[in-house]
Amino acid sequence: MGQAINQLEEKIQGSVITKSSKEYPEACKIYNAMIDKHPEFIVQCESIDDVVDSVNFARKNNLEVSIRSGGHNGAGLALVENGLVIDLSKMKQLQVDPNTKTALVEPGNTLADIDAATHIHGLALPSGIIGTTGIGGITLGGGLGYLSRKGGLTIDNLLECQVVLANGELVIANKDSHPDLFWALRGGGGNFGVVVSFKFNLIEIKNVYAGPMFWPIEMAEEAIKFYDAHTKNASNDLYGFFAFLTVPPAPPFPEHLWNQNVCGVVWNYTGPEENREEVFKPIRAFGPPILDFVGEIPMTALNTMFDGLYPPGLQWYWRAHYIKELTPEAIKVNIEYGSNIPTMHSTTHLYPIDGACHEVGNDETAWANREARWAQVIVGVDPDPNKADEVTHWCKSYFDALKPYAMGGAYVNFMMNEGQDRIKASYKNNYDRLVKVKTKYDPNNFFHINQNIQPK
Ligand SMILES: Cc1cc2nc3c(=O)[nH]c(=O)nc-3n(C[C@H](O)[C@H](O)[C@H](O)COP(=O)(O)OP(=O)(O)OC[C@H]3O[C@@H](n4cnc5c(N)ncnc54)[C@H](O)[C@@H]3O)c2cc1C
Repeated sequence: MGQAINQLEEKIQGSVITKSSKEYPEACKIYNAMIDKHPEFIVQCESIDDVVDSVNFARKNNLEVSIRSGGHNGAGLALVENGLVIDLSKMKQLQVDPNTKTALVEPGNTLADIDAATHIHGLALPSGIIGTTGIGGITLGGGLGYLSRKGGLTIDNLLECQVVLANGELVIANKDSHPDLFWALRGGGGNFGVVVSFKFNLIEIKNVYAGPMFWPIEMAEEAIKFYDAHTKNASNDLYGFFAFLTVPPAPPFPEHLWNQNVCGVVWNYTGPEENREEVFKPIRAFGPPILDFVGEIPMTALNTMFDGLYPPGLQWYWRAHYIKELTPEAIKVNIEYGSNIPTMHSTTHLYPIDGACHEVGNDETAWANREARWAQVIVGVDPDPNKADEVTHWCKSYFDALKPYAMGGAYVNFMMNEGQDRIKASYKNNYDRLVKVKTKYDPNNFFHINQNIQPK
């Protein structure tokens, strides 16, 4: 193996990091510090050929393989114990074409990279809410964020992928070329190959009217009911995710609110400028809010607003549900756990997946939960490893208590290692079709460090 890995290193443009390399400890770090895995090799690819060579090398040497783009996956699926990591984080080419309103993006780009490049043209890609997230994993799992109600999921804006398959072949997947693969890539995660470039449609967005608004925890029941009713028939221009949280003890939050357990909504209004005040009049009249930071900001500022609060290297444990309806029972559970958040960073968010997301059918992409109104994520987070058990316990208990009122399954990008039944429940009627595509493109399950679709 030693000689073979040296040959790979000589051949590729990027570099191979082994357990004895001085870069190894840094190269093994991913976003979630709770994950401690020790790959044998980390191949930091710099070109498509590097990816092809890495896939062929791993296959010939019977090495387990993981794929890393931004390294944000909560379950640590970017890394593989004793195997080979195909690390794409150095593949950062990115071209925006303002004429066709499209972007060609390599998988090493983060959401912040893409936002910065698109924003100068008054364009944006609907995707996630934290700038350090990698475009690779978030796209292939679906992609939820502040523009979901306006522009759909990230996959609803995906036009084409270049993919390195398990046999080392490079293919283009779009609606005409390998349409079955293209269907599966839109929600089916990293099961089918290594995506080495994404072509996206962009939407016109520059500045938005957005920001957090909080209410006292004692008002949680009225606030969540108000939010539910108010957003149910709202135009796709109004987005807001509901949260239970602790006010961070730092500016710009007013000192009298520091460390208070509150509930709130982070809003994003993308409609006409002249309608802003009118749209927010009834929202501001409710409560009134104890904090109202809603105002005009660049889309890039909204998409990185919480990056400072959630830097890489914290302990994370999370679980998720799809929620169709906020029943009185579901509200009760949310208030019980949302009022007993264990640490300042721990929180729960209800991410809307209605609006434009509902305009795509459940079988048009692999993402099978279009009838849900929210993807709810429960995150136990703290910088201190000694708090890992406490945040995990809160998260699991909250998840279990909410389960009877959820739809079954979860958004795969918010899942830990929760077993095959949960994966099947998440893909519902699309699972069998995904198995067919997997069997065709990866019959030996070479790509299995993921929310795994098992071939027949
Ligand atoms: C702080 C934080 C905020 C988040 N916010 C959001 C959010 O707002 N919206 C949302 O939808 N999700 C969000 N997520 C979840 C996020 O979508 C997943 O964690 C996703 O896996 C991150 O992608 P990545 O490339 O950084 O992950 P990585 O850990 O690098 O990869 C995860 C997995 O994705 C697959 N994969 C990645 N790149 C490729 C590729 N190029 N080809 C093939 N397979 C690939 C592989 O199976 C890999 O194991 C968030 C996560 C965190 C930690």
